[in-house]
Amino acid sequence: MANGEKQDYYELLGVHRNASETEIKKAYRKLAIQFHPDKNPGDKEAEEKFKEVSEAYEVLSDAQKRAQYDQFGHAGLSGAGFSGGGFGFGAGSPFGDIFGDIFGDIFGGARQRGRGKRGDDLQYNLEISFEEAAFGIEKSIDVPYAKRCDTCGGSGAKPGTDATTCPTCRGAGQVRFQQGFFSVSKTCHHCQGEGRIIETPCGSCRGTGSIRDKKTLSVKVPGGVETGNRLKLSGEGGQGTKGGGNGDLYVYITVKEHPIFTRENNDVICEIPVSFTQAALGSEVEIPTLDGKVNMKIPDGTQSGRIFRLRGKGIPSLQGRGRGDQLVIVRIETPVNLNKKQRDLLEEFARISGEEAHPMRKNFFDKVMGIFS
Ligand SMILES: [Zn+2]
Ligand SMILES: [Zn+2]
Repeated sequence: MANGEKQDYYELLGVHRNASETEIKKAYRKLAIQFHPDKNPGDKEAEEKFKEVSEAYEVLSDAQKRAQYDQFGHAGLSGAGFSGGGFGFGAGSPFGDIFGDIFGDIFGGARQRGRGKRGDDLQYNLEISFEEAAFGIEKSIDVPYAKRCDTCGGSGAKPGTDATTCPTCRGAGQVRFQQGFFSVSKTCHHCQGEGRIIETPCGSCRGTGSIRDKKTLSVKVPGGVETGNRLKLSGEGGQGTKGGGNGDLYVYITVKEHPIFTRENNDVICEIPVSFTQAALGSEVEIPTLDGKVNMKIPDGTQSGRIFRLRGKGIPSLQGRGRGDQLVIVRIETPVNLNKKQRDLLEEFARISGEEAHPMRKNFFDKVMGIFS
């Protein structure tokens, strides 16, 4: 993944930052036709350019993604290898719509006549530990994907045979019919929009042109990710056919719950139980952190619920600048299962303790008196 030196999406499409949807679509169309792989067979540069403008269009044509991009630039998007959760495209390919929309218009029925099809985008759910999410990790994942069938070269027809043009739509993949004043076109049922019919299917792929395979990929998860973040591995999705380009692989991150830590933005939060004598007399307690144990001073007279902040012991920022803090919430534990001696001592303690030992309590009852007097 090229990082850091990505060209600005608006520049790529040659439009103003406040260009309308129509202007963006028009600009994309022009460039997409110019650089389309079918028009530039074997031209790597054109192919790259085509990918770039398609990516730019994917973002700028989506109001939500565009807003995210305007605010955060590439860093706010999957294009830089990472994006915040919540974009939410469905199980299908986010590009499917664009291509259907744009190329449906541009090329009309021609699209079905041997035009390349982009590979599917794939989704992979990756579960990692709290610590792995904090500091980043490199993981090996096995990804199932559809590979072009080598036996038939992706055509789906048994080698030596050919697919025949669909007689119903004459290869267009679409049939037109009149509905009131409108001429409507609809996917041809006979060939399912393929425009051709395979009479003798390839034995290896049963006529689909692709076979299921698995590949092992290494995924670099950056430190600071959260559940719902996704990583994009460009071109690691399903294989395209006839120069249609590969789909992308989206790795969705799920962070496992930690037994003692929770997370709030980049801060790590944990509650620690402290005995009431420790809290009353003050003490030093051992606190688990992401970097191992540290000693923390609890001053005498600490109340339950007090929060201590351990600076820089939180989660590294995903943007690579600094770390959050660890917030330690003190919970004071009331002693239980007292034996005779403990009970006697506490009773003695209670007998000799006056208001000055419990200012909170005194304050409360003063207020109660205020209400009922
Ligand atoms: Zn085959
Ligand atoms: Zn047909």
